[in-house]
Amino acid sequence: MPKRTYSPEALAKRAAYSKQWRARNPERAAHLRKRWSDSHPDRLKETRKEWRQRHPEKARLRSAAWRKAKPDLAKALCRAFYQNNKSSCLEKCRARYRSKKSEILSKHKEWRKSNPDKWKESRISYNHRRRARINNAGGNHTTKQWMRILAAHKNRCYWCGAKGTKKQPLTRDHYIPIANNGSNEARNVVPSCLPCNQRKNRRDPIDFARSLGLLL
Ligand SMILES: [Zn+2]
Repeated sequence: MPKRTYSPEALAKRAAYSKQWRARNPERAAHLRKRWSDSHPDRLKETRKEWRQRHPEKARLRSAAWRKAKPDLAKALCRAFYQNNKSSCLEKCRARYRSKKSEILSKHKEWRKSNPDKWKESRISYNHRRRARINNAGGNHTTKQWMRILAAHKNRCYWCGAKGTKKQPLTRDHYIPIANNGSNEARNVVPSCLPCNQRKNRRDPIDFARSLGLLL
């Protein structure tokens, strides 16, 4: 049988009637709606997606309200999503950073200026976390060993050869990053200027050396 088509007027009339009926029979309507959504999970997903695309602003407000009402659940879902989509999330984040670098940096600067206490706290807890990671990594080195490492490298950055100065001393770089199970032993420490250390961050030493054109 060919599918019947309805004129826009007829559709509008039917929608208006349904609306009135729902208003008159709220419990029955809720029951029917639930029965329908339980038996059509895929259609429900589709409909919701379409609705969000048609009403982006409303959708944004709605999810913000939902997140506010259920902060713990929202956080847990967000974390789970990140764990399951780590690489695409990170790539998205990096791309956003690359395209809006100066805007993001100046926003951060502004935030630090207007929230000095929060900024200080976050630095402290970051350092604590870092310390804990280093302690967990096992191994340690003494200041004497660090001085010997510096002397062995003639006080130059392992990566770019920049000389350490009093104003900008070289920093300890964990050749295999602590985040990648590198240790804090002397044999895993090389001197690095701050820019190289920050650029390398938790990258693999071989990848980083290649990015500097040091290795083929
Ligand atoms: Zn350097």
